[in-house]
Amino acid sequence: MDALDRSTIWPYDEHGEPRDFYYTRYGNPTAAEAEARLGELDGGTALLFPSGSGATTALVLSLLEPGDTIALAAGAYFGTGVTFGALEKWGVRYLEFDQTEPPPDGVQLVWVEAPSNPFLTMPDLEAAAAHPAPLVVDSTVATPVHLRPLEHGADFVLHSATKYLAGHDDVLLGAVVCRDPAAADALRTFRARTGIVAAPDPAWLLLRGLKTLELRVRRQTESAAAVAERLAAHPQVQTVRYPGFGGLLSFDVADGEAARRVETSTRLIVNATSLGGVTSVMESRHRWEGDRVPTGLLRLSIGLEDPAALWADLAQALS
Ligand code: PLP
Repeated sequence: MDALDRSTIWPYDEHGEPRDFYYTRYGNPTAAEAEARLGELDGGTALLFPSGSGATTALVLSLLEPGDTIALAAGAYFGTGVTFGALEKWGVRYLEFDQTEPPPDGVQLVWVEAPSNPFLTMPDLEAAAAHPAPLVVDSTVATPVHLRPLEHGADFVLHSATKYLAGHDDVLLGAVVCRDPAAADALRTFRARTGIVAAPDPAWLLLRGLKTLELRVRRQTESAAAVAERLAAHPQVQTVRYPGFGGLLSFDVADGEAARRVETSTRLIVNATSLGGVTSVMESRHRWEGDRVPTGLLRLSIGLEDPAALWADLAQALS
């Protein structure tokens, strides 16, 4: 079993020298174990952060300088643009580009999402990796079960571990997985200096979640593929976005009013935000993202319920 060690300090050795762990801001054994497991899954050096957004902030602040520009995939997680916007007063700018095309010249960081949330487009990873700037792939939705971005030329993988990795809607956590061990050392030092560190409890919940990651994600993929197919054939549904893998999809109904009706009519599927948990959740994204998304767009994260029961619930809500 994995041990949960909540200590913030550990004794020095018999010569009065620090051991591997001495003060938790520099590292703790529970997070180190979770980082080792996640690092194996993604094929790099993993570092945990208190949330996905915290991981985003730490990575940007450690890599960039005032005057630098990030090329961000258009239609990527709404909050990533919000975080970048909050950093603008520190001199870091961002622009958006179509991630199915090569990133623009003259940027110092390329940020794509595989697949994007909620548009479910996949980046052209080959073109992004060929760009001279470091490449970050937010692989929250794909998870290492479906994609190992470091094998496709990414320098960093970003995860909101709040989602599939932890998987039970009971932990807020983020991670960056680095290809280059020296880059990981630099980010680890920055993390310790700025204090943007994850506590042991969420790290322990990540360890628990990782034990079932593959089983959960494979089952969610199976169910989501079946639901996407049935949605595409439904007369009330206009567009279905599903990349062919993973548990996340989005679809459009006629307008905002119809979306509100559908999201509040489900009984099994919970009308809530977020994604990647064992419970299916669905929400209209217009409430958060405004005109960036169609008014009738519903984002659906498929959980582990019986797929036939999920479809029955959606069918009654759509009718
Ligand atoms: N990246 C993606 C793709 C997300 O969906 C989210 C959250 O929804 C985040 C990053 C931010 O993660 P967190 O909510 O853990 O800060």
